[in-house]
Amino acid sequence: MIFDISTISDPALKDQYDRLKKRGESTAGAIQKAYSLPSISIDFDSSSDFNASAGSEGKGYAIRLNSAVPLLIYLVFEKLFSFPTILPEISSTDEPVSDYSVPFIVDPGDINARQEWEIQLTELRSFTARMLADISMTYILLHEFGHVLCGHVEGNKHYNGSSKILELNAMPSTGDFKSSDRNQAWEYDADAVAVTLLMRYVEELMEDIDKNERTKKVFYKGEDTLPHILSLFSVSLFALFSYVRGARYKLNRYSSHPHPMVRSFYIKDMLVKAAEDLWPLNRKSFISLQDERLEEFFLALEELELIDGKRFSEGYMDSINGELSRLRELQACYRESCAEWTWIGWEK
Ligand SMILES: [Zn+2]
Repeated sequence: MIFDISTISDPALKDQYDRLKKRGESTAGAIQKAYSLPSISIDFDSSSDFNASAGSEGKGYAIRLNSAVPLLIYLVFEKLFSFPTILPEISSTDEPVSDYSVPFIVDPGDINARQEWEIQLTELRSFTARMLADISMTYILLHEFGHVLCGHVEGNKHYNGSSKILELNAMPSTGDFKSSDRNQAWEYDADAVAVTLLMRYVEELMEDIDKNERTKKVFYKGEDTLPHILSLFSVSLFALFSYVRGARYKLNRYSSHPHPMVRSFYIKDMLVKAAEDLWPLNRKSFISLQDERLEEFFLALEELELIDGKRFSEGYMDSINGELSRLRELQACYRESCAEWTWIGWEK
């Protein structure tokens, strides 16, 4: 059932859903025009499950996000920005505008796994939280667009016999290594397309700096503005992936997504490359800002038990590097698997 946004009573939250749907629809319009695609509809499905999908609908495509997803992501970022250690340059001592506690679903795969979260935010920190939440939600939609553009919807029907690609399957791994490798390669490609599409959002933000005082306060950093914005995109996605991944550890659900740290690593590289195609970028500033942000987010996520710090040992970094090269091999190996349905070409 399609979720009705007008039933949301909280105005800030309703605005978050509206903005996301609008952004999804304008992206759909731009993509249809640029690549001569049939229609792509964007909607929220009424569901408390954390899931998103891309499938076919009539002669076109349907991208769906479950209605609980924006709310959960919104709360993750409200909570993260309740930590004064995250982006400490944005003051946390002003008068709070948000001050509430909520029984938060700490595992997106289990609505009963809850923890009481105290949330207290100043106006500017609340704005920043909402912006970063919006970036993460937008990313989920763009990733679905990535599946559509790469021809994975048709590929999924052809190879897996399924009419839509679900981001989190409640299905155990089949042990079919070939299909699991292929699905991972698809996830990697969908991420690559999503990052390219995300540049439109980066551009919009840079333009908004001149028009909106709040945007300027948060996203403007002189000649380091672009590295600063990219570092915020990068850590927002790290927080998102860390939260989503919880379901996979605890519920043994099957997901073909690579580990959040691995995914964050290659997405960071993809962000740099996509930005450099459009603008001059100071890589050094980006790396140093991104490391700073990553550390702030990491500690907060660990305190919230959304990531397990014990896993991040030195040997672990080696295994991340191994995993990265494996993914790149898979990508090369399976890219042609959807060649007959793809809407885009890849650089050689
Ligand atoms: Zn996917």
